[in-house]
Amino acid sequence: MKVVVAVKRVVDANVKVRVKSDNTGVELGNVKMAINPFCEIAVEAAVRLKEAGQATEVVAVSVGTEACQEQLRTALAMGANRAVLVKAEEGLEPLAVAKVLQAIVRQEEAGLVLLGKQSIDGDNNQTGQMLAALLGSAQGAFASKIELAGPHVNVTREVDGGLETLSLALPAVITADLRLNEPRYASLPNIMKAKKKPLDTVAVESLGVDVTPRLKVLKVSAPPERQAGKRVASVQELVAKLKSEAGVI
Ligand code: AMP
Repeated sequence: MKVVVAVKRVVDANVKVRVKSDNTGVELGNVKMAINPFCEIAVEAAVRLKEAGQATEVVAVSVGTEACQEQLRTALAMGANRAVLVKAEEGLEPLAVAKVLQAIVRQEEAGLVLLGKQSIDGDNNQTGQMLAALLGSAQGAFASKIELAGPHVNVTREVDGGLETLSLALPAVITADLRLNEPRYASLPNIMKAKKKPLDTVAVESLGVDVTPRLKVLKVSAPPERQAGKRVASVQELVAKLKSEAGVI
């Protein structure tokens, strides 16, 4: 069974993002970029299936500019067999990405598609669900455990107040949650080997999908500055301030 795993290039999770002065988005110039953390978990899950002999091939796919090759190379260094970059303008919205992934999944005849549950830049949490709907296949979102069982895959998902386990008919779409696994670090030898693994580039236009935007970002603004806290010397002072200054007791 072939596994397709979707990998998004995002601002590194450790970077403190800054909003552009014209409020049209966040500053991306000279900012460290990385694989979206949930996509890294999805890649790890796919590679583990291959290592367990349950997947024959892992194909990493990214939709975006040439720069996404960097994140695809990381996925290859983690153990993906090959990669496909669908060249498109930066910032396609989830429905457009889902349509592009649908075309690739069909071309690849993948038995399983793994995605992150959410991109940490837009916090959309939409692409996997839309992709499953477009493909007409079963979906298991927010997976914390994946077990292949013949023509099915059992997916444990975290829901309010507990865990739910679903049996999905393959081919299926699964989105990875934080607790699914702890992704491996790509070792230096594997980073070197990844440079020789195949990375194909496809123009989005060649897929014949409509990627016209349906959303318009009106404004991006930074959260209000947090007020500095105050240190008090005693419980009495705290109570007095809560009464007189905060007015909460
Ligand atoms: P989102 O719906 O934007 O929160 O993204 C959920 C998941 O969809 C991500 O973790 C990726 O696995 C996948 N995805 C979203 N955008 C892209 C993209 N441009 N290229 C590849 N995968 C993507």
